[in-house]
Amino acid sequence: MDTIKSIGYPIYFSDSLGQLANFIKQSKYSRFFILTDENTGKHCLPLLNEKLAGMENFDLIEINAGEESKDIDFCIGVWKMLIDFGADRQSLMINLGGGVVSDLGGFAASTFKRGIDFVHVPTTLLSQVDASVGGKTGIDIDSIKNIIGTFTQPKAVFIEYDFLKTLPARQILSGLAEMLKHGLICDSGYWSLLKASDLKKPAPELVYYSVEIKNKVVIEDPKEMGIRKSLNFGHTVGHAVETYSLLNDGGKALSHGEAVAIGMICESFLSHKKAGLSADELEEIVNVISGLYPKYSISEDIFAELYTYMQKDKKNQNGKINCTLLTQIGQYSIDHVCTEDELYESLKYYTKIQYATFR
Ligand code: NAD
Ligand code: ZN
Repeated sequence: MDTIKSIGYPIYFSDSLGQLANFIKQSKYSRFFILTDENTGKHCLPLLNEKLAGMENFDLIEINAGEESKDIDFCIGVWKMLIDFGADRQSLMINLGGGVVSDLGGFAASTFKRGIDFVHVPTTLLSQVDASVGGKTGIDIDSIKNIIGTFTQPKAVFIEYDFLKTLPARQILSGLAEMLKHGLICDSGYWSLLKASDLKKPAPELVYYSVEIKNKVVIEDPKEMGIRKSLNFGHTVGHAVETYSLLNDGGKALSHGEAVAIGMICESFLSHKKAGLSADELEEIVNVISGLYPKYSISEDIFAELYTYMQKDKKNQNGKINCTLLTQIGQYSIDHVCTEDELYESLKYYTKIQYATFR
């Protein structure tokens, strides 16, 4: 699998940790900081340490695992550790973890001393196919996701498929939602390939194709002025359901991808109503998603609360809720204003679907 060129930086797939060791050896950085969470510190750091054996000037910063760490308090914690360790502007931050580590680490690095360099070593499927590519960094405030952040590109991304071996099945499903989205928005051939694959354990080639798709989109539109909005398919409703679940389900909260899977069903329904997606393709999408993910219970009592979260979405303009929809599988269409009633109808549609399993 060839190295993919992104916006001024490479994304490595083959011998990627060896490539990281070369990158470090050939660089002029004064210091290196590896950011992990408690799980990647345990499962992924040993392999990284093996590859970087004998190298000096490394310090470790560890955060708690989970979305709760993607906030300003943990960010201040990271900044303070950098200060305590004596980080200068020639330091490099190595983000070893999932999307929480790459978003928080990227944000902390992009603002520390007006910006130090960072690289991502993504360790979840979701961060490999999505969060590590495209230069969005950020933190949450009061469960409003990614409300503070920067567009800052990493210096390189190193994708090591082997890290997925220790990833729990639910986290694989979480990343898979973004891969399904990539097929749905811009590549019907890839969607067909996914449908025919063992999706409980997506093969390395599928990870690679997804990164190629995401990368193509962000290269064309780095600051989300147009085509990058295609990546928001499933995310208007998805983010609202995710926020609700984070606030109400405690340790059993939905993962990002599980919420996006729900969002993709609702927004496929809206695509059928408003953007020309055929009834057959709507059914096909619903069958694939409902066959993979457990059903989440959404009672009508919470529709209004979900709607208030949708109103806070960054993608809205003039207070109107703006969705990316599908005209057919493999073809997206941006800037569809959806009314409160339409969004409620899509949630009702979700509640009526028969699923194989329930949470
Ligand atoms: P995450 O970083 O919380 O990782 C999920 C869980 O897996 C955590 O408990 C983590 O400790 C654990 N883990 C990570 N790697 C592991 C491994 N190899 N083995 C065992 N356990 C491992 O979550 P995520 O799903 O990777 O990312 C979600 C975050 O990414 C959200 O905050 C979302 O907003 C963000 N995101 C950002 C972008 C972007 O463009 N910047 C895109 C999509 C998502
Ligand atoms: Zn997403």
